[in-house]
Amino acid sequence: VTERGLTRGTCNTIDDWRDLAACRGKPTAWWFPDRGDTFELVLARRVCAGCPVRSECLAFALGEPDIEGVWCGMTAQQRRRMRPV
Ligand code: SF4
Repeated sequence: VTERGLTRGTCNTIDDWRDLAACRGKPTAWWFPDRGDTFELVLARRVCAGCPVRSECLAFALGEPDIEGVWCGMTAQQRRRMRPV
């Protein structure tokens, strides 16, 4: 599994949900937009909105405080706000 979670990893439980990820095969840049690039962010969020493994994706991303990029349609900053202090 890459840091972006967009490629297939080894065969274990944590990777199973990734096989169903709607972002698989899509341009990775959409999930890692340059600062201020709202167009790519919108594209990523559209794909995430229809993804069948949103909850698994978000749970994983919330457990990885240093992970960058858009996960479950949320930026790193938005995910930081969701974490307990
Ligand atoms: S919710 Fe978005 S980032 Fe997460 S697996 Fe689905 S498409 Fe990919």
